[in-house]
Amino acid sequence: MDLSIETKCMYGDREGLKGEPTGSISFPIYQTATYAHPEVGKSTGFDYSRLQNPTRQHLERVVASLENGIDALAFSSGMAAITALMEIFKPGDHLITDIDLYGGSIRLFDNINEKNGISFSHINCSKEDVESYIKPNTKAIYIETPTNPMMNVVDIEKMAEIAKAYKLLLIVDNTFLSPYFQNPLDFGADIVIHSGTKFLGGHNDTLAGFVITNSTEISDKMRFIIKTVGSGLSPFDSWLILRGIKTLAVRMEKSQENAIAIVDYLRNEPKVKNVYYPGIKDSPGYEISKRQSRGFGSMITFEVESPELARHILKYTKLIPFAESLGGVETLLTYPFTQTHADVPEEIRKANGITESVLRMSVGIEAKEDLVNDLKEAISSYKG
Ligand SMILES: *Cc1c(COP(=O)(O)O)cnc(C)c1O
Repeated sequence: MDLSIETKCMYGDREGLKGEPTGSISFPIYQTATYAHPEVGKSTGFDYSRLQNPTRQHLERVVASLENGIDALAFSSGMAAITALMEIFKPGDHLITDIDLYGGSIRLFDNINEKNGISFSHINCSKEDVESYIKPNTKAIYIETPTNPMMNVVDIEKMAEIAKAYKLLLIVDNTFLSPYFQNPLDFGADIVIHSGTKFLGGHNDTLAGFVITNSTEISDKMRFIIKTVGSGLSPFDSWLILRGIKTLAVRMEKSQENAIAIVDYLRNEPKVKNVYYPGIKDSPGYEISKRQSRGFGSMITFEVESPELARHILKYTKLIPFAESLGGVETLLTYPFTQTHADVPEEIRKANGITESVLRMSVGIEAKEDLVNDLKEAISSYKG
């Protein structure tokens, strides 16, 4: 039976639930490190929780079904997932990555993977000629769309065509839209990444990360890596993410509705210079978004008239906290310049437009009037 995405949030692994002997509606937390073997050479399918755990497996099957993949692996954080994924490459390999990525990913690539012999070209995949950066040792294209924080939209299908022509892997970090609004594997990507800490978990209370693929070869490699490096998600945290996913559909719809109301307000606010949101009709990414996504999401980046006003807003909103992270039920304001993107080299930050006047907002599920009023009051109390 082909299930719609809302239903998959609960029943993405119907078989796994049916196999539960008590009929438990909530999948149990198997808080165990190890499993007894029936006899030598036989296994229940579970040997040791670094390799497999029933709660983590149930979560992985639900996430695989949400992304239309054949396998998903759950890690202890988004960065643990990306770090494990990078183990499929070897010294001498070269990767093309978008220049506007989550700051932690750039930090990993430039400080740890480079040291281990992997090289990178960071380019603007929504504007530049990606093909001209391909070298004989290039192995993959790594993108986020929309990008973090500037909300550039990258054409997944176009990237997939280039990747196929040169036998490269296309890796898409799909954190910003979640599988509810976008499924990169359907557009030719080979691997999807999620920081499960964000929309999948949805409550700003648990770290998690995922690697999803529709290739058995990559799945086999990743299964070997997770059992060897040991960064799999714990049973309890797996359960928390499962619980978060049950409400993914309603959260995504409500937070997007709120985001659209906030974008409308910000675009009419004279002290706001620029609003970056792919749902704005004359924005460069609008048409591509319509083709590859079912929604525009709830991440907004905006530039105010001065760095002083940006800092004033972060200090004087009464409701909205100034905090890192995104994708939770609580709306959060982030200052990429000193938070998520502080470790990104200055020239990259500049080229991307991440100035001291740029704020990023992850819109939650509060009443939209309260959110707009909070922003309005913080901005109007600025007398600079
Ligand atoms: C947060 C984030 C990550 C890293 O995930 P963690 O769970 O914080 O380790 C990776 N990519 C994107 C787009 C993110 O927003």
